[in-house]
Amino acid sequence: MDRSIDDHASAGGELRRNPVSGKLAIVAPGRAARPHDGVPAEAAVCPFCAGNEAFTPPEIEARRPSGGAPDTPGWTLRAIPNKYPALAGLHEVVLHSPDHGVQLEDLTDDDLAATIACYQRRIAAHLAGGAAAVTLVVNRGLGSGASIEHPHAQLFATPVLPSLLLDELMEFERHRNRYGTCVLCDEMEDAGRRLVFGGDYVAWTPGAPRFAFELWLAPREHVADVREADPAALGAALRRTLRAVRSATGDAPCNLWLHTAPAELRGPFHWHVEIAPRLSGIAGFELGSDVSIVGVDPADAAAALRAALPA
Ligand SMILES: [Zn+2]
Ligand SMILES: [Zn+2]
Ligand SMILES: [Zn+2]
Repeated sequence: MDRSIDDHASAGGELRRNPVSGKLAIVAPGRAARPHDGVPAEAAVCPFCAGNEAFTPPEIEARRPSGGAPDTPGWTLRAIPNKYPALAGLHEVVLHSPDHGVQLEDLTDDDLAATIACYQRRIAAHLAGGAAAVTLVVNRGLGSGASIEHPHAQLFATPVLPSLLLDELMEFERHRNRYGTCVLCDEMEDAGRRLVFGGDYVAWTPGAPRFAFELWLAPREHVADVREADPAALGAALRRTLRAVRSATGDAPCNLWLHTAPAELRGPFHWHVEIAPRLSGIAGFELGSDVSIVGVDPADAAAALRAALPA
């Protein structure tokens, strides 16, 4: 095994591998100092709202339709380094709106497409810069792990493949070797009553979910890398998906993450988004066995999500 990653240290946290489980951990004591919503002393100023640019590190890129200087108001989209990085230089925040209450699905078509194009550019920059993989996540609501309420996405670039992506790459390989097909293409094809919507983008609930109302979204076309996606078309599909999840779960806290091809892809892969509503906690058996217990039949969840789709 690769032992060099045991020693990978940075000014942010330190990436370590548990030699018994093989799982990766980032030990980042500095992140304990980051602000948390709900802590009164910290709640006075939102560092992500327009006018508070001085509370964040200097921006990496921004969209200012009416012009203006960097790190000043007037932006509609802003990418910044994370002030409390898990791994230094490899952890960014993308703010898709200066407005504290605007979620991704509330954006105009134009702003949502611009946000997705920004995600694609930042993923490209990190992969070109030597990252092995980039994981994009959105944490929404108390109970999702979000430390700041203002809607935002985070990009985590890692010098090694995260455990879950590695597991998926192995399953893609195994499935292709056995059946000669893509496991995700087959999953979408076989969704049946778990299909939420079809078309150029397909949304479905996995038959063996980790979370109640868990929803996956992927392009119908077999494509490994999200950077090839048309931002407007992906935006439209993402909006439908997020609106349905929000409505069907009563705006429950949720996490969203993107799995896209790593820098060096040797076998098959098919990029996808996973959305994980957090209607219940993760308990000891799940943690102790890596086996999930889900109290909602994914076919019933899909029916509720279909009923909640915007017209
Ligand atoms: Zn805010
Ligand atoms: Zn595929
Ligand atoms: Zn995945």
